[in-house]
Amino acid sequence: MERITVKKTASQGIAVAPVYCYSEPDLTPDVRTVPEEAVPAEQKKFADAGEAVKKELESLAAGSEIFAAHLEIVEDVTLQEKVNAKIAGEHKNAQAAVAETIDEIAMIFEAKNDTYLKERGEDIRDIGKRLMAALKGVKRPDLGNLSSGVIVAARDLYPSDTVKLNPEMVKGILTEEGGVTSHVSIIARSLNIPMLVGVKGILEKVENGETVCMDAAKGVIVVGPDEAVIAEYQAKKAAYQEERVRLEALRERPAVTKDGKRILLCANVGNTEEIRQALPMKIDGIGLFRSEFLYMESTHFPTEEEQVRVYKEAAELCPEELTIRTLDIGGDKELSYFPLEKEENPFLGWRAIRISLDRKEMFKEQIRAILRASAFGHVRILFPMIVSLEELREAKDVVEECKRELAQEGIAFDEKVETGMMMETPASVLLAEEFAKEADFFSIGTNDLTQYLLAVDRGNPRVADRYSYFHPAVVKAIRQIIEAGHREGIRVGMCGEMAGDPKAVEMLLEMGLDEFSMAAGSIDYVRTQIVNAVSLGNI
Ligand code: PEP
Ligand code: MG
Repeated sequence: MERITVKKTASQGIAVAPVYCYSEPDLTPDVRTVPEEAVPAEQKKFADAGEAVKKELESLAAGSEIFAAHLEIVEDVTLQEKVNAKIAGEHKNAQAAVAETIDEIAMIFEAKNDTYLKERGEDIRDIGKRLMAALKGVKRPDLGNLSSGVIVAARDLYPSDTVKLNPEMVKGILTEEGGVTSHVSIIARSLNIPMLVGVKGILEKVENGETVCMDAAKGVIVVGPDEAVIAEYQAKKAAYQEERVRLEALRERPAVTKDGKRILLCANVGNTEEIRQALPMKIDGIGLFRSEFLYMESTHFPTEEEQVRVYKEAAELCPEELTIRTLDIGGDKELSYFPLEKEENPFLGWRAIRISLDRKEMFKEQIRAILRASAFGHVRILFPMIVSLEELREAKDVVEECKRELAQEGIAFDEKVETGMMMETPASVLLAEEFAKEADFFSIGTNDLTQYLLAVDRGNPRVADRYSYFHPAVVKAIRQIIEAGHREGIRVGMCGEMAGDPKAVEMLLEMGLDEFSMAAGSIDYVRTQIVNAVSLGNI
């Protein structure tokens, strides 16, 4: 019996089942150079493989944005041109040309500092595997064909491996690689399949068919457990399932505290797929739509029309209200097509609203797109990283200017669209009173607020134990923000990670927080804390 602990929980839950070691067929390319006369034949092999992959993806894309995006990548002319150029110019065979091209494109993403972008490299490699399997004429294993319950152990999984996952058969997933924000992890969370990533060496530690117990929330795996441990995990699993059923039943109840204050429970998302995943949690809206992900997923600045399409879809999906935060790049978030100059202190540098105000034309495109989407739902605009009244006014002026333009052009929008600000800088706390007179709402960003108040880099593991939103300075700042907001009668929400921490709920309610916005997976847990608590805060 061996007990392994890991830190990366991609999806919570408990499982006890035999392990299924999942491995790919050999997709190593057969690398050859070909004579000039063979070029058309190799290009045809590539075109045929592309067609075969398109067909596979078309059937998958109907029900999934992830595969719709993959389909776009396969159809992308740059990919096709690059592969064809390697065949024609360098006389590589189709397999070698595809392998090299996929590697080059994936590496551009993998070199990014941003975890989200890094993981997009996985999508490119997934497409590479499909193309290579088609070129080699081999079949990849299909997790959709399992006939009994297993815990899947793999080096890594790709969205195409997991799309046909049946939670009846796949009881748990363990991968050596991968990150918690990868698409595979998102799918596992939406299917409620417990999953741990970063389980180094798991394929050497287990044998096909061997029993494994896992508690994903705790990051514990037991390989070859004895009877007593199996019984212990079976009991834990039953208790966990009972708890989930109890929590899910609570979804029908609005989040009202014992003393009758209605609290808004909202989700933080980065795209429309995540809105779909959050809807079953019975949310009161999207408290934070991180629009930068739309920019990061694109290969160019998304045009006004492209943005309208996404925001409109989001607004139509969203039951109550959709709070779209304007572009928040800089710091640790980059755009491949908009290189930022290297800065000594990027978190104190050119980021978020500073970039938007310095690039007015780009900012206006985004604001126009958000306003146009406001004709299709209840949309609110949220500005990130504001430190002065001048910035807030300048940003609001842009909104007014865009409204005038749209009105002149006869394009519909919501005249009364609200404009709020992230409260995530020390300056915003000290000026909360003044800001509350001019902003329609506040959203407290504890992730940045904590790093700026405590002078602790939120991404630096060396100082991670000094980073705490329970630090008295942060708690005091939150109280001041809520009080200042309420004195002016505006709603105060929170969209930093603290809002999804069940341990913080009671304190935040006591301070009078009106809205909690968090990752969808935390909503059930926070709701149960709210309905069992008393709120002493008033608006
Ligand atoms: C925050 O800073 O708390 C926040 C929600 O924004 P982000 O994590 O995107 O910086
Ligand atoms: Mg922030």
